[in-house]
Amino acid sequence: MIPKSVIENIKARCDIETLISSYVNLKRTGSNLKGLCPFHSEKTPSFTVYPGTQSFYCFGCGAAGDAVSFLMKAENLDYMAALEKLAQRAGINLSEYENDYRQKSSGVTRTRVLEMNLEAARFFRDQLNDEQTGEKARAYFFGKRRLSTHIVRRFGLGYDPDRGDSLVKKLTELGYTKEEITKGFFGREYNGRQYDYFRGRVMFPIIDTAGQVIAFGGRVLDDSKPKYLNTSDTPAFKKLKNLFALNYAKNSKAGFMILCEGYMDVISLHDAGFEMAVATLGTAINDEQARLLSKYTNKVILSYDSDEAGQKATKRAIDILEKTGIEVRILKLTGAKDPDEYIKKFGADAFRKVIESSLGKFEYKIDTLRGKYDLSVSEQKIRALDEVTYFIADTQSRVEREIYIKQSSEIFGVSQKSVEEDVLRKRRIKEKKNRGERKDKLIAQTAGLNDRVNPDFAIDPTLARAEEAVLGMIFLRNEYISRTVDGSPLCEEDFSTAFGARLFRFVSENSPDGRFDMTLLNETFNEGEVARAFRMLAERNELENNGSEAFDGCVRVMRDSKARNSAGSSLESILEFRRKNSKQ
Ligand SMILES: [Zn+2]
Repeated sequence: MIPKSVIENIKARCDIETLISSYVNLKRTGSNLKGLCPFHSEKTPSFTVYPGTQSFYCFGCGAAGDAVSFLMKAENLDYMAALEKLAQRAGINLSEYENDYRQKSSGVTRTRVLEMNLEAARFFRDQLNDEQTGEKARAYFFGKRRLSTHIVRRFGLGYDPDRGDSLVKKLTELGYTKEEITKGFFGREYNGRQYDYFRGRVMFPIIDTAGQVIAFGGRVLDDSKPKYLNTSDTPAFKKLKNLFALNYAKNSKAGFMILCEGYMDVISLHDAGFEMAVATLGTAINDEQARLLSKYTNKVILSYDSDEAGQKATKRAIDILEKTGIEVRILKLTGAKDPDEYIKKFGADAFRKVIESSLGKFEYKIDTLRGKYDLSVSEQKIRALDEVTYFIADTQSRVEREIYIKQSSEIFGVSQKSVEEDVLRKRRIKEKKNRGERKDKLIAQTAGLNDRVNPDFAIDPTLARAEEAVLGMIFLRNEYISRTVDGSPLCEEDFSTAFGARLFRFVSENSPDGRFDMTLLNETFNEGEVARAFRMLAERNELENNGSEAFDGCVRVMRDSKARNSAGSSLESILEFRRKNSKQ
């Protein structure tokens, strides 16, 4: 645990408004500030900063917290690393607490992982260059993939020998413990012995935009499975929040980026002079990666496989990237299965032309339909037209829809009016369906169904809301923690939801002097739970009525309900209730 006084000291020297302003353009509204949420894509601001309680809350996505939680989310750090960063800004040294904290939480520190990564990168490189050990790996990079020495060095490519435990030995010699090596994803245990996690693989270091080696990808040299293996999440790395080669691509002056499927595509492209290529790390692109990309570029060209899986991935990527305002185009390769093969066959200049003639999403749709259907056969033409009108109906912009309708009527040789009518009909059906879904969602939300943070909420939403109000007021005015209502002090037993009781217990145990610092929640509660607590605070921030009468009123609601239920409600009935709801 980091002493509460130290945390208070850090936070006192760091103003949340100043901190968040360096990420978000904030405008004052009354005593609060508003801006576009950095954690979800939106066009009207729902992200609110409350300087009075040094906290934030987004009404759109529910992200909430204080300066520490903000840094955790924005910079992709864990609790300790975010605290350290704030401490640095405030000129406070936290290193004496770090190891203690890490050992209790994950067993390895961020600093130690980063150091190990650097040692491992050196080791992999040396093995690749070793005349005997690296022979097979060099044959793969230089022979099969025809990479240049320059690019192999630039990307720090390497090799983990097949011997079994050479890296584990090296790291042990350097003083890293067995646990650190396992947690850093360099060692794996079989029958009590530790072996190299990546043994027998060619290695691709993953470097973040600050230039640090944060993780590795490894590829086998034979047909064994899995073909690619990646570092899983460590205190220094979150797979779903990083992109391969963004450290180089962000400096490209091309004005766009190429999003590829794999490391090798990216490396070959860079080798051929296309330094704007990036890739996700073995997963489909997600919202966070899209937003990360949108920080550096407003145009992305997709280069995924043209098979069915690739087409699905392309469609998904278009939707996700467009949400962040990125213009998306799709690369169409003929005569080669991926950019690497294309460049090897036809050269870099030919590839540059392919980039220039990349397709917009409508052209791409038409192109895939041409591959799927024979448009000279009426039956197939009708099916293709059906798909196109669905596609147009899904398009949000009216101008875009109009253009696509016109083009479709030309391509398919049918009147503009009939295409338009079909699109309209499909939009109406869609709208009706959406309304239904929105309504269902709203009902579920109000009733607290599908509440993962507080699953008990739905048992009695009115009561649960009273509990959240009580907790919110406690967060706002710490003196309520020990307040006596109708002769007896508020206690854990007054809460009916397990989450509420757990929060209250933590607050009372961690406020010996009657003051509670919400940052401490991070030490025990997970991200969703911490955000929920800050949401309770934000809800009180939005209300005027937080006086002792409001507080006492809510406590009475809690106690009355308990008295009423103590006769009727048994554990069985609660379990029955949960069982019913989990089915829905
Ligand atoms: Zn948001």
